[in-house]
Amino acid sequence: MLPSLPFDPSHVLIGGAWRATPDTLPLVNPSDGSTLCRIARSTDADVDTAVSAAQTALDGPWGKMSALERGRCLTRLGQLVLDHADLLTTLETLDVGKPVTQARADAIALARYCEFYGGAADKVHGQTIPYLDGYTVYTLREPHGVTGHIVPWNYPMQIIGRSVGAALAMGNACVLKPAEDACLTALMFAYLAREAGFPNGALNVVPGLGIEAGAALARHPGVHHLSFTGSVETGKTIQGLAAQNVVPVTLELGGKSPQIVFDDADLDDALPFLVNAGLQNAGQTCSAASRILIQRSVYETVARRMADAYRGKTMGPASSDPDIGPLISTKQKARLESLLQADHDLTCLAETPMPDDLPPDGAYVQPRLYGPVPPDHPMAQDELFGPVQVLIPFDTEDEAIRIANGTIYGLVAGVWTANGARQMRLAKALKTGQVFLNNYGAGGGVELPFGGVGKSGHGREKGFEALYGFSTLKTVAAKHG
Ligand code: NAD
Repeated sequence: MLPSLPFDPSHVLIGGAWRATPDTLPLVNPSDGSTLCRIARSTDADVDTAVSAAQTALDGPWGKMSALERGRCLTRLGQLVLDHADLLTTLETLDVGKPVTQARADAIALARYCEFYGGAADKVHGQTIPYLDGYTVYTLREPHGVTGHIVPWNYPMQIIGRSVGAALAMGNACVLKPAEDACLTALMFAYLAREAGFPNGALNVVPGLGIEAGAALARHPGVHHLSFTGSVETGKTIQGLAAQNVVPVTLELGGKSPQIVFDDADLDDALPFLVNAGLQNAGQTCSAASRILIQRSVYETVARRMADAYRGKTMGPASSDPDIGPLISTKQKARLESLLQADHDLTCLAETPMPDDLPPDGAYVQPRLYGPVPPDHPMAQDELFGPVQVLIPFDTEDEAIRIANGTIYGLVAGVWTANGARQMRLAKALKTGQVFLNNYGAGGGVELPFGGVGKSGHGREKGFEALYGFSTLKTVAAKHG
């Protein structure tokens, strides 16, 4: 059952006011298929009102706030997120089907984004540029204006933290369109933002369907920058819509990220990262390590140890805090199962035991480890977005690089080797936005710029770098000589 909330979850937040929309949508708990509540189904008109409210905030108190004051609002918001971490955790557990420990980690990461961008808000500045005699030239970092944020259901808190947090730090006014499958923490975050002192309209939230509210936001002429996280197909649509208004877009899309294990790797160190980076959030992670490339001489050892780990994982409803909960919806379950049932001749090395008493209407899919898998097999090429990993043996470093770079994606890669020179060679040769050497995404990575190459997208969020993406540069040339 949904805990009591300080707002009506079927409302939108526009210009500081909670309002009803003409229609609503059901929000389902994927652990058991029950309906948690109804959420807003925002229309074109709602999105239009939200964009106007954001512009009004920019023209009013929000636009006049100093960077220091904006940073203080964010820092207060970070503290409020920590104070409400239990409630945010419960909401994400119910809404996303995310195991409690993982949902709590997301709530803590959201607070950390607020702290990080709160501290960074007044540390972004322009430069002076030597020019002609008698001139002083300098640059100013300014907000884009109204920023649109279209986010998916898999990590609502983390993705809102990194995109909305950075946009607010730079003085933009945000219109946030959370996913129709998961939007409770987005609403709670916006509620806390008001409590933290953000002026009305600085952050507006319009839940609804992608093809309705999402598309309305992406094509709105009053939006000056779009941040989208989601699938490649939707990313292409959004970039096309934004192009009509010549608006910059940050696209954080999918991946088929490899971890590469050489025969000199410390396998005890590597093993938890190899497995958990595939199974975290039931594999519904853009940077999931869905391909494990293993040097042939240690292939059998690594495969056996990973298979043992799969058999030792637990599955269950998210609130029982298992290792692996349900997928986000029975729709996603059906999609993944049809991919897995496709006629293929792969060997399934291990499955995680599925308890008999799982709620029948939950969206559970049994985790599976396949190997050896040819690198060009669809299971080794397509983003599956579920608890499935494939093992790919290789012989030489060159072959590992070729396989790792051999998909349409380029988000993250991990390399496990004790050889320092090889680490440096791989870090250069891998065509991805991030490379982890002898780790894989430890520590949350709030401070680390993130984004893809190829079909994984373009632009960078997270870290200090995001602040440049959420601002524009003005050059001032003054003649005084
Ligand atoms: P999705 O593209 O279906 O939906 C994402 C968001 O876009 C939702 O809010 C949805 O309502 C909205 N949307 C859908 N159609 C739209 C349209 N025509 N116009 C405007 N908005 C629209 O993606 P998903 O299935 O929710 O998420 C899974 C995908 O997201 C995976 O491919 C995953 O890899 C990717 N992802 C990437 C990152 C990253 O940082 N690179 C992070 C998380 C997820």
